[in-house]
Amino acid sequence: MYKILLLVFSVFCLSSQLIAAPEQGKQLIVIDAGHGGDDIGAQVKGLKEKALALQTATLVKQYLHSKGYRVILTRSRDIFLPLKKRTAIANDTKSKLFVSIHFNAYKSPQPHGIEIYYYNRGSKWRQVASKKLADTILHKMIEATGAKNRGVKYGNFHVIRETYMPAILIEGGFITNPSEHTNLSNTGYVEKMAQSIASGIEQYLKKI
Ligand SMILES: [Zn+2]
Repeated sequence: MYKILLLVFSVFCLSSQLIAAPEQGKQLIVIDAGHGGDDIGAQVKGLKEKALALQTATLVKQYLHSKGYRVILTRSRDIFLPLKKRTAIANDTKSKLFVSIHFNAYKSPQPHGIEIYYYNRGSKWRQVASKKLADTILHKMIEATGAKNRGVKYGNFHVIRETYMPAILIEGGFITNPSEHTNLSNTGYVEKMAQSIASGIEQYLKKI
């Protein structure tokens, strides 16, 4: 009886160790789905930026989880979240990276493609790291989606300016461009895009 109890006890300890151990040292990433609630963002024919951003962010979280990262979404539902709150979540949790997901719109239907913004002032270290993160993710996204590469650009947006860690803002395509609108309405395309964002994050973190 004693031996059985001992065996049960050691199996329990071993399994709880196996479950608990990988949690330690896991890197934390904050993914921000742009807009939400009353703030719809861009909208064309029922395709809403706020919903597409949340769909993409949720998929990126799933892919990163399966690669062993810890992920916090600034919002996981259709709610309005002030910009200050979004940066506070990343700063307060001392997250390793901050990635904000948006989609583009323009007054004419021609522009299309993916671009990524980073903030090019303040700490030199953060500028260089953010640019590298943007380059790595953009390369992966273009490779996966075949979308036009609009490049890595400077942006003075609250979420990438007020965060303390490497931070980028992805514009994942123009919902005002008919063919990009079709792609972004397709779950398979959005999954491919989200997977490429996750693999870009992974590649960046493995190199630093
Ligand atoms: Zn937006």
